[in-house]
Amino acid sequence: MSRVPLLAANWKMFKGPASAGEFLDAFLPTVPEDGPEIVICPSFASLTAVIEGCAESRVEVAAQNMHFDEEGPFTGEVSPSMLVEIGADGVVLGHSERRALFGETDEDLARKVPRALEAGLTPLLCVGETESERRASDTEAVLSRQVLSDLAEVHDSDLARVVIAYEPIWAIGTGLTATPEQAGEAASFIRDLLRSRDPGQAEAVRILYGGSVKPANATELLGLDDVDGALVGGASLEPGDFAAIVAAAS
Ligand code: PEP
Repeated sequence: MSRVPLLAANWKMFKGPASAGEFLDAFLPTVPEDGPEIVICPSFASLTAVIEGCAESRVEVAAQNMHFDEEGPFTGEVSPSMLVEIGADGVVLGHSERRALFGETDEDLARKVPRALEAGLTPLLCVGETESERRASDTEAVLSRQVLSDLAEVHDSDLARVVIAYEPIWAIGTGLTATPEQAGEAASFIRDLLRSRDPGQAEAVRILYGGSVKPANATELLGLDDVDGALVGGASLEPGDFAAIVAAAS
């Protein structure tokens, strides 16, 4: 099955609205008329500015987190319908920084992923192993636990709407990149897990690779059979670098 490649820019806690606007001024003119799907994931503070800035383009915008409830006494949180109301298209869920630094659990994600889908948002679910888990040959066990628990409450008929980013934690922001063999094996393993849920839907799910993707390694990683795009952190902060990664997928 042919899947439309997807390139997502995870800006983390960088770029306020003014600097986001400068990025868009440089990046949007480089966006090809058709080709890969492009999603920018700014901080909450810059979401509206980026949504408005991308309104006349085909670039989509996703938040970096979301609560599973619609409203309530949850200081500092944002709900699915709030993201929809401001015009967001998707939401990154389960990024390793949220899991490791902010205590996000697979139980939380099992509630967040279906809520995002119900709201009409595309969930970009991040999964991946630590360096010690890889050394202990636990990569597949970690991926099985994360993928199967985080998607447990998603109806089979909605699986194809989920995007999964395989992000080995040891490769995020470190300059280390998974070898094409490691990235390809993990992506194929994730697709097999999805096949165990629903063989037909599994073929349609986009599986991204994330972890120090740069213009220099993008072509090789994006060429892998089960890799349908990339979630890019550091290199997505520079419009020229992100444009070069988009071009590698075009
Ligand atoms: C990320 O933030 O998800 C990421 C992959 O970061 P980097 O590209 O900087 O490793």
